[in-house]
Amino acid sequence: MKFCKSCLQPDTRPNSVFHSDGICPACKYHESLKDVDWEDRKSELEAIVSFGKANNHSGYDCIIGVSGGKDSLRQALFVKETLKMKPLLVSLGYPPEQVTQRGVENISNMISHGFDCVTINPAPGIWRDLKRKGFRQYTNSFRSTELALFSSVPKFAIAYQIPLIWWGENSALQLGETAILGKSGSDGNNLRKMNTLNGGDITWIISEEIKKNQILQYCYPSPEEMEQANLRITFLGYFWKDWSLVNNGIFSMLRGLEIRDDKPWEIGDPYGVTALDDDFVTFNQMIKYLKYGFGRVTDYVNEEIRNGLMTREEGISLVQKYDGTCSPYYIEKFANYIGITVREFWEQLDQSVNRDLFEKVSLGEYKPKFTVGVGL
Ligand SMILES: [Zn+2]
Repeated sequence: MKFCKSCLQPDTRPNSVFHSDGICPACKYHESLKDVDWEDRKSELEAIVSFGKANNHSGYDCIIGVSGGKDSLRQALFVKETLKMKPLLVSLGYPPEQVTQRGVENISNMISHGFDCVTINPAPGIWRDLKRKGFRQYTNSFRSTELALFSSVPKFAIAYQIPLIWWGENSALQLGETAILGKSGSDGNNLRKMNTLNGGDITWIISEEIKKNQILQYCYPSPEEMEQANLRITFLGYFWKDWSLVNNGIFSMLRGLEIRDDKPWEIGDPYGVTALDDDFVTFNQMIKYLKYGFGRVTDYVNEEIRNGLMTREEGISLVQKYDGTCSPYYIEKFANYIGITVREFWEQLDQSVNRDLFEKVSLGEYKPKFTVGVGL
């Protein structure tokens, strides 16, 4: 395991390959931003806006996939107020056991800014069965959730003949997940190659108990379906100079977003602006940490380091303190939800802990073998 020489990105992030000078792809991208011709990029954006407006057959120019969180609120307001488009917001609703009160209020706040919004709620029983299956099979209860999150929006766009979808961040560029790179930095039509979507594969889900017609919202449209619908998926983050977790958080708080008041160690998040609608993401970041050696705090500090707002040393201290931490409360909540004990939770997770990176102290307690910022 190596760390980027400039930020704190480890080379264990899936689908990410460092340059020969030891710099991660996200830092290279950030460095390249200073040479970007923003007027050029603006023309590119204007062409996409014209495409949406010219292909408006339904009354809506575009769809924005939203959670009600910091990124979606900022995007929605930008599309309406700056791009002067008529968007339809599409939100995937979590089942009652998963969604937080804060999440519900944030969606309401968003709608109150003057948007039409459709919420898609997959059946809660199947949702829970799939979370259990993903956890049991891959120690990843979000495998099905991410499928539903990313598939339901293009499915809806095709059904309602809305030609354009805006997502926020292009993780190929902004996080370095290069496998999903499209024809240009704003092109998201390759999104199904994202690590968490695995090409839209649902074969692991289908069984005697779960048939395809029970999981329609989890099925990513095929490339042919997307082409036939002339559907264009585009990343808005590509057109913003100052896209970051913190900037989007500050912007959206000023427009009514409610953030978390947990302590940083309870959620592995020093600012409390992510995963506002869902408590289960919290322990999932801890699982990611034990699989790959980094969690949410690394994502934050990397942006702050690249933006010159934090030194690498300050970042190391934050990552050492909080990355991969999670309150037992959230672990217990999830274990109860999928009907296992906390011990069974740890026994499952124990099988997925990366033994090259961590030494087992006892069940549920793991010590990193690596030094943050240095590596193994
Ligand atoms: Zn880097």
